[in-house]
Amino acid sequence: MLLRLTCPECEKDSYSVSVENFKPCPYCGILFSGKYGSEKRDDGRINKEIPFILPYKGQNLEASTINFSKKGLSIKIFGNPSLPVGDVMEFSIGNSLVKTEILWFFNAPEVSMAVTGLKILEGSLNPQEFPGLNISDDRSTES
Ligand SMILES: [Zn+2]
Repeated sequence: MLLRLTCPECEKDSYSVSVENFKPCPYCGILFSGKYGSEKRDDGRINKEIPFILPYKGQNLEASTINFSKKGLSIKIFGNPSLPVGDVMEFSIGNSLVKTEILWFFNAPEVSMAVTGLKILEGSLNPQEFPGLNISDDRSTES
């Protein structure tokens, strides 16, 4: 059974099989659950969409960042790709080359895209292309 959930951030509807599980909003990319609301974890995440090409098993998938931090990023991939959790991918966004592991993956066929959360294993995002990374680095106060 699919439940219709309204994103607490952008207020668009998407579908989930559970009100408790956290799933990403396919529109704005925040993680939320129907029961617990949006993810409040503050890890210096910055919302910014940067389009890039994701090479995957001989295909060039169109993708875009949704948000990112020093340790990872969420991206959306256009079309209806299916990528297994745990897969390691290497790609570049601008001049930043990173090696990442898929932590979670959700298809959103209603908007023809998939949203996935990636952990950065190697490499880093260039602060010049990802403005804000430096600032969140230096931040030591809890908000
Ligand atoms: Zn949303």
